[in-house]
Amino acid sequence: MFIDGKWCEAEGGKTFDVFNPANGEKIAEVPDGGAAEATRAVEAAEAAFGDWSQTTAYQRAAFLMRAHALMIERKEDLARTMTEEQGKPLKASRNEVQYGADFLQWFAEEAKRVSGAVLPSARSDQRFIVLKQPVGVVAAVTPWNYPISMITRKVAPALAAGCTVVLKPAEATPMCAIAMFKIFEEAGLPQGVVNLVTGLDPKPIGSVFTGHRAVRKLTFTGSTAVGKMLAGEAAKGMKRISLELGGHAPFIVFEDADPEHAAKGGSLVKFLNTGQACISPNRFLVHRSLVEKFTETMTARVSKMKAGSGFEEGIAIGPLVNQAAIDKVDNQVSDALAKGATATTGGGPLTEGALGDGKFYAPTVLADVTPEMLIYREETFGPVAAIIPFDTEEEAIAMANDTEYGLAAYIYTRDISRAMRTFERLRFGIIGINDINPTSAAAPFGGMKDSGMGREGAQEGIEEYLETKLGGFSV
Ligand code: ADP
Repeated sequence: MFIDGKWCEAEGGKTFDVFNPANGEKIAEVPDGGAAEATRAVEAAEAAFGDWSQTTAYQRAAFLMRAHALMIERKEDLARTMTEEQGKPLKASRNEVQYGADFLQWFAEEAKRVSGAVLPSARSDQRFIVLKQPVGVVAAVTPWNYPISMITRKVAPALAAGCTVVLKPAEATPMCAIAMFKIFEEAGLPQGVVNLVTGLDPKPIGSVFTGHRAVRKLTFTGSTAVGKMLAGEAAKGMKRISLELGGHAPFIVFEDADPEHAAKGGSLVKFLNTGQACISPNRFLVHRSLVEKFTETMTARVSKMKAGSGFEEGIAIGPLVNQAAIDKVDNQVSDALAKGATATTGGGPLTEGALGDGKFYAPTVLADVTPEMLIYREETFGPVAAIIPFDTEEEAIAMANDTEYGLAAYIYTRDISRAMRTFERLRFGIIGINDINPTSAAAPFGGMKDSGMGREGAQEGIEEYLETKLGGFSV
């Protein structure tokens, strides 16, 4: 762990094991911290806040740019650590390291653009000045599916704003976090400005994050259930929160779209990270007249996707994170098959050869999915494309919005009016229009409803870490 500028063990030297999800081999032991370590880290961040918040934006930007340069220099090592610990294909890991580095650069630039305002008053003897100031100590909790970019997406804007940070990474992927904190250390960040607490049981650390008076902001990416629980706890101390939670993205293919083009895009985005992404399409809503062609193209592409170790060439499908994830996916697939859906490819865990020990799920396409099936409503977080036919635009939009989630949505159409209408009517925070990758450090990322609140990246990203202070001056 990295607390107050020093690498340290957990109290009593306790550790936990980290495994390669592709083969179950143990790859490391890391400190198993808890409430005591989290408290020390929060207090170190509190002590560092005074000086750090007084640095100039130019100084903070320089630290972030040094960290950015180190990430680019170590891209290959970071990518390998990620593939070993998280399982995604090496190429995808490299892309993620780049995406993660982008946030350091973007917020190094944004640090210098934080400004307030001078507002007119109705009184001639009064002046209003609006000042933006860092919120204080930030507690950050990150997930295992994007184990590097989710760190920089939080740490970069927090540091840029002048906040200090304590981060708890997911228990499945602490090695990526350790590699990133080595970079923060080498970038020369002063003692206590960034702190890392690893632990197998997130609860005691989470309780310190939500309960400690010095924490002024909690930023979380993970499941909706945990996010709601943490938000409830944080409310008791009136801490500010940002939450990036689950999703259930619709992918609508309207009757005027090219079904092959849409299926190619759909198969690429659905199976990224083996479907373990909050913006992964969970429901392919396809106009009835295109269903056959769309399903055929999707099936042809998906059936060629190779599963295996992310270190091998040509692998598209990695392992799922754990047995519970496999069981959840399989339960949704069995339920759909029992209620009348058909698997045009895949349909169960891989059982043969080297991949047959239950860590991989066959990339699956399900045709004839209906609202009665679990997969129509539940987030899958796995490699299953569920295809649901529709007849009218009205029906497609109603089905798309018929979910408690509101993160990403995708639309395929060649009709510009329909694209605009649908863009406006969908209740989601991120919408790809004939586009499967509507993400960038420069673009606001975040959801509505049960997908959370707050935005990361973009100009909005730094606002999450700033307080607005008003000065009314009598002159
Ligand atoms: P997933 O189901 O995708 O693993 P989680 O929400 O359980 O999603 O995990 C996301 C992050 O939240 C991880 O870092 C995990 O350790 C953390 N987490 C889970 N439960 C708690 C908790 N009670 N308090 C704080 N953090 C938690």
